[in-house]
Amino acid sequence: MFNALIVDKDEDGKTHAAVKQIGLDDLPHAEVTVAIDYSTLNYKDGLCIGPGGGLVRHYPHVPGIDFAGTVEASEDDRYKPGDKVVLTGWRVGEAHWGGYAQKARVKAEWLVPLPEGLSSRQAMAVGTAGLTAMLAVMALEDQGMEKDHGPVLVTGAAGGVGSVATAILARLGYEVAAVTGRPEQADYLKGLGASTIVPREDFAEVTRKPLESEQWAGCVDAVGGVMLGRVLKQMKYGTSVAAIGLAGGAAIEGALITPFILRGVNLLGIDSVMQPYENRVRAWNRIVTDLPMDKLEAMVQPAILSDLPKLGSDILKGQVKGRVVVDVNG
Ligand code: NDP
Repeated sequence: MFNALIVDKDEDGKTHAAVKQIGLDDLPHAEVTVAIDYSTLNYKDGLCIGPGGGLVRHYPHVPGIDFAGTVEASEDDRYKPGDKVVLTGWRVGEAHWGGYAQKARVKAEWLVPLPEGLSSRQAMAVGTAGLTAMLAVMALEDQGMEKDHGPVLVTGAAGGVGSVATAILARLGYEVAAVTGRPEQADYLKGLGASTIVPREDFAEVTRKPLESEQWAGCVDAVGGVMLGRVLKQMKYGTSVAAIGLAGGAAIEGALITPFILRGVNLLGIDSVMQPYENRVRAWNRIVTDLPMDKLEAMVQPAILSDLPKLGSDILKGQVKGRVVVDVNG
């Protein structure tokens, strides 16, 4: 028997999360059984620990959209017992039981080997949020983002994706302008490499202006909503915004078509969920070279399974700083 955070729904439709003992036979069938070392807390996990937000298919459910651990048994030639592996995405923790347990069973194609140069804990300090930040930076570079074109904006900067994006961009030599609604996190963000802290209020109003003065050479946007609407109008000619999330709203409010026509701005959608194996490996390799490990450590808030019901609610309110790393054996 082993520990898992089980989320269940009562007859009134209310969800309850608690750490319980389950056995291997309770896990869904799949080719590879992994003994998990660490998982993490992402925004989606907050939804899945709570009412589900339409993500959870069946109850009872084990959330946890990512994990790192050691293969215990494998019916697939690609993995053998003892191999260190990482999982992000593939609707694990949503449609399939996830990483908030001491063991998981998953398909071999969903895994990648633990990248050389990273421990399980470091890989989960990066986690899905950090992988997505890397994918966003790679997409902006593919579109021609360059260091001498001016500052690059990161929104939701004190959150998981924003923190990693800030540290990677700064390491690569970009001037990073970090948008936060938490002025008390200014020192934290400067420590990650941000050159400027921009208050969230600067982007809070919907304006009717078709364009604003050109400021940003690129943007990693974790917020959407009114913020993204304003950011688009401030992008420099021919630049791109990598939209990765919607912590501030699912619509692009107040946006007009003018930035796209008159400034040739590109809006790139980034999704980490169904990334093919080659892309995941490429992004993990870039993380090893482009994310300073001392900065990564500064982002980490350690947790254990029983902390997750409270932390899951906190992340939905935008109150979590950096990356929560969950020691499932703690
Ligand atoms: P976090 O909660 O860690 O960070 C989000 C940050 O956004 C907060 O810390 C806060 O930053 C800011 N924020 C929150 N609410 C608001 C608001 N109402 N208005 C403006 N800013 C707000 O979440 P993650 O970084 O893990 O994820 C961010 C988003 O990215 C989520 O929507 C998530 O679902 C999505 N995501 C998408 C992925 C993909 O593959 N596309 C992968 C991972 C995440 P501050 O306090 O600094 O202002």
